[in-house]
Amino acid sequence: MSHRIKIKALLTGELTGTEVTVKGWVRAFRQNRFIALNDGSTNNNIQIVVDFENTDPALLKRITFGAAISVIGEMVPSLGSGQKVEVNATTIEILGDCDPEEFPLQPKKQTLEFLREKAHLRFRTSTFGSIFRLRNTLAFAVHKFFNEKGFVYLHTPIITASDAEGAGEMFRVTTFDAQKPPLNDAGEVDYKQDFFGKATNLTVSGQLEGELGAMALSDIYTFGPTFRAENSNTTRHLAEFWMIEPEMAFYDLNDNMDLAEEMLKYLIAYALEHNREDIEFLTQRLLDEEKQKPQAERSEMTLLDKLQFCLDNDFQRLTYTEAIEILKDSNHNKKKKFQYLIEGWGADLQSEHERYLVEKHFKKPVILTDYPKDIKSFYMRLNEDDKTVRAMDILFPGIGEIIGGSQREERYDKLTQRMDEMGVPKDELWWYLDTRRFGACEHAGFGLGFERLVLFVTGMGNIRDVIPFPRAPKTAEF
Ligand code: ATP
Ligand code: MN
Repeated sequence: MSHRIKIKALLTGELTGTEVTVKGWVRAFRQNRFIALNDGSTNNNIQIVVDFENTDPALLKRITFGAAISVIGEMVPSLGSGQKVEVNATTIEILGDCDPEEFPLQPKKQTLEFLREKAHLRFRTSTFGSIFRLRNTLAFAVHKFFNEKGFVYLHTPIITASDAEGAGEMFRVTTFDAQKPPLNDAGEVDYKQDFFGKATNLTVSGQLEGELGAMALSDIYTFGPTFRAENSNTTRHLAEFWMIEPEMAFYDLNDNMDLAEEMLKYLIAYALEHNREDIEFLTQRLLDEEKQKPQAERSEMTLLDKLQFCLDNDFQRLTYTEAIEILKDSNHNKKKKFQYLIEGWGADLQSEHERYLVEKHFKKPVILTDYPKDIKSFYMRLNEDDKTVRAMDILFPGIGEIIGGSQREERYDKLTQRMDEMGVPKDELWWYLDTRRFGACEHAGFGLGFERLVLFVTGMGNIRDVIPFPRAPKTAEF
């Protein structure tokens, strides 16, 4: 039999008693007899039993950690205690040698920092195998969730000419020679001569275009790459990340929150159901990591508990104003334990405040609504009080903001007034304003940072470890 069977399928034991072909990379080779082989279909290895007395010693020497091999043999019940089944090899072929002297990975625990520098090889570790299988499952589940609800997947542009939302955080896209771009009479760079005939950037969000789609298709979502040139070297920011942005006609803020909460729970439940082994592996990884920490700093819940807890509890919903009261009166604030103290209403919340609300005060996911208009975007719907807007941020334990959204301002007059007040160029966004002129209606939407979701579900601590090849300040290798 020459057809290769994946290890995940072999480990079910259904093929016991038959001859199989299996291919993969060597994770371990003990006593010249037992190979642990992995092909990425699962974190579990299949054990290959080698008849070393009848195998060429030159071949045995080439079965090294990292080598790619092909094995033909019989699936049999295992005599050992570690596994149900194993393969008794009859033929072993080396597909690709791996010199242990040269290979950067070692068959032992290596730090995440080290592996980040070897991002081209880190897929071969158990931790990153689990992370990227989970990432895949979550991406699939996003499409499944929206598809089941009749949403239209809309591709919004990656190159955009509007920088209304970007506020200086955008990457310019140009074909100009950086050394000598053409200048106009005023001595400024003349973008009229550039490829698109105007200055263009990489998108920071597909929302504005998404709204255009929702004004005809009712419910749309985008799921694509997003770029922000913010120089924030945090464990939660990337310069290139993936965002999911649904936009729904005839939705108000409550409908928006309901959908967001239902979606997050659906995605977490889907991962628990389909990648249980990976989550269990990462739960154990976290427990091992936490053993190094003093008792007081360890998490109260394991990763598995945390995910289940999220499914079992309603998210706490409250207004920004209520949150400020809680924060202001907290012992944390009084004892000056926040880096940024909460003085009063109007302040933007820092991630330390968001995490205090979620992790210390409510001890569950929180949805904050009705923020001061001055700290939110121009397109959010103004409340009766004229001071707050129909915004909602969803805050998660260990992450802080995972979703940012709002009911959109559909009233032409109010919208243009806010644009004027905030210095947003109306002429550039004429097409956006047209939706408020022709058949405008109540609508809402939000943005979920995909990597923040993957961070939460994998329990990893750094966003650079949940995207295959991270882009961040001074980081664009691979
Ligand atoms: P933050 O305050 O954390 O920087 P934001 O207010 O800039 O977030 P939004 O503009 O509302 O975020 O974007 C929507 C979502 O996109 C956020 O809730 C977050 O999940 C994600 N996100 C935003 N910026 C980044 C980034 N630089 N890297 C990864 N994800 C991000
Ligand atoms: Mn930001």
